[in-house]
Amino acid sequence: MDCIFCKIAAGQVPVTPVYRDDDLIVINDINPQSPHHLLVMPVRHVENVVELADGDPELVGKLFRLAAKIGREQAGSGFRLVVNTGAEGGQTVDHVHVHVLAGRLMGWPPG
Ligand code: AMP
Ligand code: ZN
Repeated sequence: MDCIFCKIAAGQVPVTPVYRDDDLIVINDINPQSPHHLLVMPVRHVENVVELADGDPELVGKLFRLAAKIGREQAGSGFRLVVNTGAEGGQTVDHVHVHVLAGRLMGWPPG
């Protein structure tokens, strides 16, 4: 399968993960949208958060627990978690991931 995040998880792309365990991997976003912009994702390929929530709710819990921990570590007074889903939701890589954005004041609406 031609999935960039699977390739990163398999060590086939020269990216040094910020964190990894058996289930999850964390990398810095290649095109950061805030001073701290990390991506938290499952090691195994799951297309989006709907598939993950239906198929493995326990992994949803692990994913968000780790994303929240990283957010807390990176944040000043707050941070933002984003899960773009599907084409209209702005998802460009079809391997589920949580964006952790921190280090600046976030605007709303997100656009
Ligand atoms: P999304 O548009 O929500 O699917 O997010 C995909 C994110 O992956 C974007 O913020 C990209 O900048 C990021 N990205 C794409 N390729 C890489 C890569 N090789 N290493 C790190 N981040 C990447
Ligand atoms: Zn994948």
